[in-house]
Amino acid sequence: MTDTVPHQHYNLAVIGTIQSCYKEKFGIPRQPGLAPASTGIIRLLPPYNQPDAVRGLEKNSHIWVQFIFHQCLKDHWKPTVRPPRLGGNERLGVFATRATFRPNPIGLSVVVLDRIEITSKEVLIHISGLDLVEGTPVLDIKPYIPYVDNVEHARSAFAPEAPTEHPVFWTPEAKIALTYYEAKYGAIAKLIEQVLQQDPRPAYRHGKAEEKIYGIKLQQADVRFKIQPYTEQQKIAIWVVDIEDLGDND
Ligand code: SAH
Repeated sequence: MTDTVPHQHYNLAVIGTIQSCYKEKFGIPRQPGLAPASTGIIRLLPPYNQPDAVRGLEKNSHIWVQFIFHQCLKDHWKPTVRPPRLGGNERLGVFATRATFRPNPIGLSVVVLDRIEITSKEVLIHISGLDLVEGTPVLDIKPYIPYVDNVEHARSAFAPEAPTEHPVFWTPEAKIALTYYEAKYGAIAKLIEQVLQQDPRPAYRHGKAEEKIYGIKLQQADVRFKIQPYTEQQKIAIWVVDIEDLGDND
């Protein structure tokens, strides 16, 4: 039974929302920092959108962002989950993982604080290296404090280091599409490579080539790619085959 103890509930206010280069969940790296070229903005909501509320924040290179996994709200939590890091076959306790389906759908990410933009109406916190989808509701922001948060000798047996990265190549057609895209909107190549080198497919497909063409929405692009066999050691390589321009209506 999961429901025998009377629960206390608290109401929390959403203090801001995320504008992100990631327009859908598919393809977002599984932790922040894996794609440093990813960018976003935390847009503070009234009454929190005051310059005073962020005074001094700009003195920090990184911030902790607590947010709602708002695209997982319909799914019920379970005591055990199958983290992609274990190939999706092995179960661990929900509290032993960073899974998105949790009793409280709250996420925690450390991101780079690039700059704070204050306009006449808005407070915009520009961030990078995020793992958050467009529209994510933000609950809190705190400075990352290295002497406490950077714990020396910390261990994590199930995710000891960053996942392996696969080589990413571009077909001639994709290169041309990239040139057009970048001339219109600015740089995206690095972001595409950093996202695809993680092999964004579900865990059970990792390391396996297939003919299917996948699409990922990044910024204003629908990036089409496929997974081809590569070398003995590296198994697969990821090929960008096209970039479709989704237009400017953000
Ligand atoms: N760093 C966070 C999140 C890890 S899970 C933590 O440890 O709590 C990262 C995954 O969350 C991403 O791959 C993405 O698919 C998913 N995600 C990002 N924003 C989301 C949102 N608003 N709702 C649901 N899932 C989200």
